Amino acid sequence: MSSLINCPDCNHEILSRLGTVCPECGHTVGYFDGDKKRKIYGKFFALTIFVPFISFITILFASQNKYTMYIGIAIFFYLAIKSCPLLFKNILFSKFEKIFFWFIWILSNSLLFSMIISVLRKGFEA
Ligand SMILES: [Zn+2]
Repeated sequence: MSSLINCPDCNHEILSRLGTVCPECGHTVGYFDGDKKRKIYGKFFALTIFVPFISFITILFASQNKYTMYIGIAIFFYLAIKSCPLLFKNILFSKFEKIFFWFIWILSNSLLFSMIISVLRKGFEA
């Protein structure tokens, strides 16, 4: 599965495989180098980890009052859609990764959603 890429430091053609050392400049191929797919994959992975965290903090602060809460809910939906595994189908996940990412996405978003519901139920002081 090793294709050729251009070294990000000196543009010499090298293998895209992780850990490949460029013979020209000594650059070591890292996880986020080369392959565009791998870059998107890295971005997606970061989204999966950070989005629920950001949403959680947003909702936590937004729950102060009704109006900030509306904004918090909008941000939650926006981020949930942006980080949906459906948008990253072209990265060709393995079966395990597919299940893993969908599981994380559904779990974190349903937890956040129930957090929103409980804030709304509790209501706000006038
Ligand atoms: Zn190089």
